Amino acid sequence: MDDYRVLLWAPTRRDREATLELLGRAGIEVNPYEGARLLAAEIETSVGAILMTDAAFIDPHIDQLLAALSRQPPWSDVPVVLLCHSSTSPPISNRVLDSLRNVTLLERPSSSRTVLSSIQAALRARARQYQLRDQFEALRTTGAALREADQRKDIFLATLAHELRNPLAPIRTAAQVLASPKLAPQQLQWVQNVIQRQVGQMALLLDDLLDIARITQGKLELKKTRVTLTEVVDSAVEAARPLIDGKHHELTITLPREDLVFEADPLRLSQILCNLLTNAAKYTDPAGHIELSGTLQNETLCLSVKDDGIGIEPHALARIFQMFSQIDGASTRSESGLGIGLALVKGLLELHGGTIEAHSRGTGHGSEFCVRLPLGTRDSREHQKRDVDAPPAGPHARRVMIADDNKDAADALGMLLDLAAHEIRVAYSGRSALTLARTFRPDVAFIDIGMPDLSGYEVARELRREPWAAGICLVALTGWGQDDDRQRAKDAGFDQHMTKPVDPDALERLLAEPLRRKVN
Ligand code: ADP
Repeated sequence: MDDYRVLLWAPTRRDREATLELLGRAGIEVNPYEGARLLAAEIETSVGAILMTDAAFIDPHIDQLLAALSRQPPWSDVPVVLLCHSSTSPPISNRVLDSLRNVTLLERPSSSRTVLSSIQAALRARARQYQLRDQFEALRTTGAALREADQRKDIFLATLAHELRNPLAPIRTAAQVLASPKLAPQQLQWVQNVIQRQVGQMALLLDDLLDIARITQGKLELKKTRVTLTEVVDSAVEAARPLIDGKHHELTITLPREDLVFEADPLRLSQILCNLLTNAAKYTDPAGHIELSGTLQNETLCLSVKDDGIGIEPHALARIFQMFSQIDGASTRSESGLGIGLALVKGLLELHGGTIEAHSRGTGHGSEFCVRLPLGTRDSREHQKRDVDAPPAGPHARRVMIADDNKDAADALGMLLDLAAHEIRVAYSGRSALTLARTFRPDVAFIDIGMPDLSGYEVARELRREPWAAGICLVALTGWGQDDDRQRAKDAGFDQHMTKPVDPDALERLLAEPLRRKVN
């Protein structure tokens, strides 16, 4: 209760003893002081109130006390109760009274009740000042957190611009190379590889961004099925393999002898592992070692990705799962990315009811990321039925309409599908798409949402009103893959929803399968 102690400065013994007795009886902590200098030093620490008598003013160091009172932080105004004879000579000047600031003057003789109730009122006022102090402190902490988040956001935006620009440069060069009239087949192949790789990288980046947005808005839904640990690990390793091999790392995988079967979203789970493996490869100098291991401990799947790379300083360990976090200096390393990978991993794991921890003994000592995923009891796992995958249908030539006001996007998609032997018609506006659809009667229509004359939603709604169009598979093409957009597409009558850039494999799968009505 130091915060509420009363500093008593009564030079005469009689005053001192009487006041100590009075306040002591009321349960108030009192510290008697002799001299302004000592009192001034105490004001810097915690003080509830000061009780002093006019006799104290003969102290030659009174100015030190007044100076200490004027140095208080903005929230503080220590209450001073001054017992004073009306005949004090010389009378206490107004200047001194002003300098005491929050002062209550009690003329002597004052009754014990008056003194006690003045001190109690002073302590109550002090309690309100402490509330203000706590609010100041909370605001300061929030302000600091906001400033830090703002700073991280600025760095993130700069990194994002950089990361998006990176793949653009080789694509632009590839386009220039394509313009050359005498291209050898190997050069053409090179151009194709460059564009495919770079666009793939950009698409991954954008997917991560959309995923993190969905997670923060609580809109990411898992598509759980029965999966095996080997499936998940294989697909993660396959995705991370180019980077691991590219840097000549050695990857060791240790899994339980008996494969584990459990409920999870296989895509998301391998995304988690792939992210950890990719980081291990990125943040380890060439020819390093990466170990991936999985064990079952008390119905919990424990996955560990360990590397002998650059390691992580202890102070940074707690921050790396925050969004846009990159350890100081990491952003200057060519391998570092957007700083959202681990935030995404953590979010995806939490959706699965899992957790992740990072361990490292510091720079140069490698890192280990440990994932823990509760799987439920063995019995419950074994009773879950395996989803039967529908056998893929063989390839069909489809009548396909593409509607997009971005002529290049429409023509490029048209060309791709034409090469795959589908019959293609292209429209560059919403209205012309409607006219074209009536004569061409497509099996499938890929319709851009953001067209200026008639939005994709309106085109879909119009088409669905016409009986002949009931069987068309309508696919919405948008730059936004949020759940809201999917719902709007579904409401407008779309069967499928694809985010741009459309993944050619997904397109091929869609056209090969029996056309079914489902926005997913
Ligand atoms: P980034 O896109 O920068 O890789 P992440 O969210 O995946 O973003 O990681 C955040 C930061 O954590 C990285 O910038 C890096 O500094 C650090 N980090 C992640 N994994 C490792 C690792 N295996 N070894 C050392 N540092 C790592």
